[in-house]
Order: sequence, then structure tokens, then C-alpha cells
Amino acid sequence: MVIIAANLPRAMILTISISVLMVLLLAGFVLYMWLMQEKQARIDNEVKNITNSLGAGVVNFIVSGEGHITYASKGFYEIIGYSKEEVEEVFDNSFYLMLENKYSEFFRMIDIGPDFTMNEEMQIKTGNGLKWILVSGKAVMKKRPVATISAVIVDITENKKLMEKLALEQERYRLATELSNDVILNYSIVDDTLNISENFRKFYGGATRIPNFVKDKVWEHGFVHPDEVEKIAEIVRSIIMKNGGNVDTQTRIRNSKGDYIWCRLICMPIQNKGGENKEYIGKLINIDTEKNELLMVEQKAMTDPLTKAFNKEFTKVKIQEFIDRNPGKKGMLLLVDIDKFKSINDNYGHLMGDNIIIEVVNQVTRAFRSNDIVGRIGGDEFVVFVCDVSNPEDQIKQARKLHAVLRQPATFDGTTINKSASIGIAIYPDHATTYEGLIECADKALYRVKGNGRDAFIIYDKRDFADEE
Ligand code: GH3
Ligand code: MG
Repeated sequence: MVIIAANLPRAMILTISISVLMVLLLAGFVLYMWLMQEKQARIDNEVKNITNSLGAGVVNFIVSGEGHITYASKGFYEIIGYSKEEVEEVFDNSFYLMLENKYSEFFRMIDIGPDFTMNEEMQIKTGNGLKWILVSGKAVMKKRPVATISAVIVDITENKKLMEKLALEQERYRLATELSNDVILNYSIVDDTLNISENFRKFYGGATRIPNFVKDKVWEHGFVHPDEVEKIAEIVRSIIMKNGGNVDTQTRIRNSKGDYIWCRLICMPIQNKGGENKEYIGKLINIDTEKNELLMVEQKAMTDPLTKAFNKEFTKVKIQEFIDRNPGKKGMLLLVDIDKFKSINDNYGHLMGDNIIIEVVNQVTRAFRSNDIVGRIGGDEFVVFVCDVSNPEDQIKQARKLHAVLRQPATFDGTTINKSASIGIAIYPDHATTYEGLIECADKALYRVKGNGRDAFIIYDKRDFADEE
């Protein structure tokens, strides 16, 4: 070769060398292009495989004209229920013709800027009637003015149906609460917000959204009756625990006029999958009329109609309640009988006698604490039960106080009537541990006061009454 080359003219050698080089370069280029095409085909294939396995569809269409489909994945055809050939036959391969009109208009009117993206819910005509799809896509400007949109299509028909059902359900629920007198509550433990149905405004005049419900201790600021603040605080404490149970209680809720309305409050927790309470859903039922009627009946059953003090039965119930609930505490039962009451009746009339009885109860009630018990157990017989008096000096003090109160004259229509009473006293549990036992001891002491000339008190002492036992 070297010998041949040496014999050939230089120009020829150069020409041959350049030609060989050109051929080699061309072959290299062709090989490169072929490899690139192979790679692209492989990538395209992979993309196709991915899009086909998405459970969604991919569609690529030209924005102008009728939205000619340039590519659609298997998933797209599966969603619409038509084959590629059917789409060509029925819709002339036009994406817009497949859509309900107003959506086609949307595409025809859009001005595709450089960053055009879309996320639209649309209705599409399919082999099985209309379907709802979510079209999420991006526009690509191929060569002005030809732009294409590549979009992922997801079938959202079931979601739509569910959402419509939910919206209907919510509307039904809204109307049902609107028509009912019950107020629906929803407390989110996480957000510390109480949401209340709209009719709360109508019935109670309050806000229907209370943020920071626990943080601001809203129930302490007039939301509920002062007597129930502690009870509601206790319920709230149990509600904010992650494992609090159901609530069923009665409380008074304040309305816009400042009146307290008796309500029944029923609440239940809503838990997450881990079994932790996240929310409470509840109902506020107006029970004001029934509750007040019940309270009135209870009051009637408990009280003496003339004086409104506890009647004989309830005096016993109340004192027995103290005995049962306070085994470690001392109580003092003072049995009162007005002196010579018959003569008050005789001298001033029965009506005046009634007034004296009422006045005796008023005077005694004013002189003692609200948790002490005042009851009328007979015509001119009363019981005062002083709770929690352990020391003997205190007991004497209480006895003196009652004695002095009963000696206070009463004035009616300008007539002043002097009165006094005799008092027999028994101490729980020193003298007896039952109501009957205490009454028995106090009665013995009272009998002795009467015998001694009245207008005094005697505290029962077993030794003094040994002969009567
Ligand atoms: P003593 O000092 O011994 O207690 O004499 P007394 O007159 O008070 O006698 P006693 O307690 O035995 O009688 C109570 C009287 O109270 C008998 C009855 O006429 C009268 N009385 C009972 N219930 C009523 C009432 O509801 N209204 C009036 N006005 N009088 C009553
Ligand atoms: Mg009397």
C-alpha cells in the first residue's frame, strides 16, 4: 500500500483520503442518528407503557380547529369507552366534539400564553353516556400558531356523584336543623372551635362559631347558668381528653334576652382510626317547658304550701341525705314549737295565725345558711337542721340564735304580735344516727322545755332523760 501510495500522484492520494474520511463520518452520523431514534423510540415506548398503566388517560390534541387528537393513551380510550377507530368514526378524531358544548367553547376561546396550564372538570360523551372527567394539562407551542395541549384525564364521575350526594345530604341536614328546634353542635378538639347550627342564632341569639372555646373558658362568661359552670367545666375536661365518652346532661343556656333556658345536651365523640377522639358532635334540645313543669311539680311535692319551707316528708329526706353523705360531720337538729299558738289564733284570728307561721319560716330562713335545712313538720312545729357544727360552743351559739329569732315580734297591718317558741335539740351523730332517732331525742328535750315553762331551748342529754328511756 505504501509502495502503491508512493507511486500515485499526491493529489489523488489526498482525494482518496478525504473521500474515505467523508464516508466514515457519514457512516458515523447515520449510526448516531439510528441510535438516537432507537433511544427515542424506547423512551416513547416506556412513556406509553407508563401512561397506559396509569388508570388515567393521556391525550394530546391541537388547540386550534376542532381539537384534533394527535395521541391518546390506552387509558383514555378505556375511560371514554370508545376505541381509537370509533373515535375517528364518531367524532372525526376531534377532542372538542367529544366534550359537551360549553367546554369546547372554553378551548376555542382560551388564549394560550407561555405558561398555560389547566385543571378543569368537564363532561365528556362516552360509549356509556356522559362522564365527568378532570382534565389537567399543559400547552406546548409547537410552532406559532400551532399549539398542542397534553393532558391527563381522570374519570371523576363517581366522585362527582358522591359530592352531589354529599351536597344533597348537607342541604337536607341544614333544612332538617332549620325545621327542628334542636341545635346541632360540633366541637373540634384540635381547633378548639365550637361550631353551632344556624338556628342557634334564632333561638338563643348567640354566635354560631366560637373559636378558643376551651382556651377562653367560654362557659364561665354567661354561656351557661352560674350554677352549672362547674358541671360544664367537668364535662369539658372529659371531652378534651382523647378517650372521653358520651355526654348526656341538662344545663341552662343563656339567650340574648339574658334568660336561662333549660336544655338537654347530648354529645358523642368522633374518633380517628387510632381510636382517639378528634371531635364531638352534639345536640342541644330545648327542654325548658317540661323541665320547669317538672321542677314545679317537684317543688310542690317538696314544700309546705303555706310557708314554702320543706314539708314533713322532704325535711326527713333532706336530713337523711345529709346523714348519708356526711358520715364524718356533725349536724344539729332543732325541733321548734310555737308557744301558746292556740291563743294567737284565738286572739287574732286564724288568718293572722297563718301569717305568724309564714313569718316564723321567713325569719328562720334569713337567719341560717342556705345549705341548712328549714322544714315545717306540723301545725306550729318546725325543724331547723344546721349542717356541720362540730364544736359545742357553736352548737350553743346556733341554739341561742334560733331562740332569739323566734322571740322577734311580728307586725301585720300595724298589729304587733309578741311570740316565742320552745326548742328541743339533738346532735347527729352523738344522740342518734337516723332522722327518727334525732326527732325522738329532740322531742323529749322539747317536751321538757314546755314543762319548764316554755320560751327556752334544751340540748338533749342521755343522762338527763335516763328515767324516760
Ligand atoms: P304549746 O305552747 O303547748 O305548744 O301550746 P299551743 O297552743 O301552741 O298548742 P299546740 O302546739 O299543741 O297547738 C298548735 C295549734 O296550732 C293547734 C292549731 O289550732 C294551730 N294550728 C295548726 N296548724 C295551723 C295552721 O296552719 N294555721 C293556723 N293559723 N293555726 C294552726
Ligand atoms: Mg305550740
